[in-house]
Amino acid sequence: MTDSLFSDATQRLDTALKYVSISEDAIERLKYPKASLRVSIPVRMDNGDLRIFQGYRVRHDDTRGPTKGGVRYHPNVSLDEVQSLAFWMTFKCAVVGIPFGGAKGGITLNPKELSRLELERLTRGYIDAIADFIGPDVDIPAPDVYTNPTIMGWMMDRYSTIRRQLSPAVVTGKPIALGGSQGRDTATAMGAFYSIQTMMSKFDRRPENTTVAIQGFGNAGSTIAELLFNAGYRVVAVSDSQGAIYSANGLDIPSLRHYREANKGMKAVYCEGSVCNIVEHQTLTNAELLTLDVDILIPAALENQITEDNANDIRAKWIFEVANGPISPAADGILAERDILVFPDILVNAGGVTVSYFEWVQNRTGLYWSLEEVNDRLKVKTVEATEAIWQTSQERSISLRTAAYVRALQRLGESLDAKGTRNYYLNGMGNG
Ligand code: NAD
Repeated sequence: MTDSLFSDATQRLDTALKYVSISEDAIERLKYPKASLRVSIPVRMDNGDLRIFQGYRVRHDDTRGPTKGGVRYHPNVSLDEVQSLAFWMTFKCAVVGIPFGGAKGGITLNPKELSRLELERLTRGYIDAIADFIGPDVDIPAPDVYTNPTIMGWMMDRYSTIRRQLSPAVVTGKPIALGGSQGRDTATAMGAFYSIQTMMSKFDRRPENTTVAIQGFGNAGSTIAELLFNAGYRVVAVSDSQGAIYSANGLDIPSLRHYREANKGMKAVYCEGSVCNIVEHQTLTNAELLTLDVDILIPAALENQITEDNANDIRAKWIFEVANGPISPAADGILAERDILVFPDILVNAGGVTVSYFEWVQNRTGLYWSLEEVNDRLKVKTVEATEAIWQTSQERSISLRTAAYVRALQRLGESLDAKGTRNYYLNGMGNG
């Protein structure tokens, strides 16, 4: 195992550091995760065999509050990946100004190979192994790739059993019946939608004259597609791992979602069966979707989809990164030269962690909010962050990604300084 992903992640800070005055002590602190835990989880399988799974939990930085981040169940999970994702979470929380630091967790497995009971035993075993590392005031897990509200419910239940007290605030993204928040399931897409709406009104663009292509039609991608469709945008193309579909007049997204749910995937819409009559379209490859001549492109699938191989072919005016890391650093430079504006993941997909924060607040106060209250508060946070990042990028002539890091670094630097750094003491601030 190398530490390459993590060092790539920390290197992306370098550009932003030129535009923010942050002490060297603070930068140094941010380059190392605060604590990394690796555990072995024994699980009795349905056939009686014992299997040992490898699990991780990393807390990157807790200067601004308890650490927060999802738990990923995936064959590629490694300590290096988890450390990198924890690092991004520190910046995402700071960008939107929620009082959390960054963390991430994961178990290396292919969840599709486990029965539901095996998954439950594995999840409870993971919590047994990390119980002393997490807690409502310490570190709060949430869902990520291949984990969901059911799994979060098991985690909360197991932690509560260990602590001998009901502890709903230890995990977010729970089922509503176990203390989950209204609007958590749609929060990532809703945050992205508020960012898009804020920018389109700034650019004086009306939805009916704005075309959109979306890569990935999963939880985040299909929800943002429907929000945009309902607001009057022309969503002309969507894709999933099976392929892409296109219609110049705009796709009927609610019908598409309905058929995807019923048929488990978009292959159901490749013109065999009744949906062809409902959703008129032509088929495209995934690669063709990315290079369509549209106003807005939304990558909502995987990392590294736009690289130096295809960045010169992108024709969208604006890219909103709903996925984490869909654009490589080299492609970032090419897109900037071509005046394509990229709204970065740490702003655009921060709706999920923002509503996770709201869930934690509701669990701790015992006062539960309506869907409208949740979305109103999410809108305030998202619009404020979008406006601020836009302003910083305009004032300093820097990319939106760099502006987002500048904003996060300013907040992190202030907190780290206030805890005591060389600058803090040299300036005599520590005497007060
Ligand atoms: P998901 O598993 O529900 O959906 C992923 C979608 O991408 C699926 O439709 C899949 O078929 C599609 N896909 C996979 N490979 C593809 C390819 N080569 N071309 C086109 N489509 C492809 O996942 P999700 O929760 O919607 O997450 C999507 C992205 O958004 C991830 O990068 C995730 O980290 C990020 N994100 C999600 C959330 C959230 O709350 N769901 C929060 C923050 C970030």
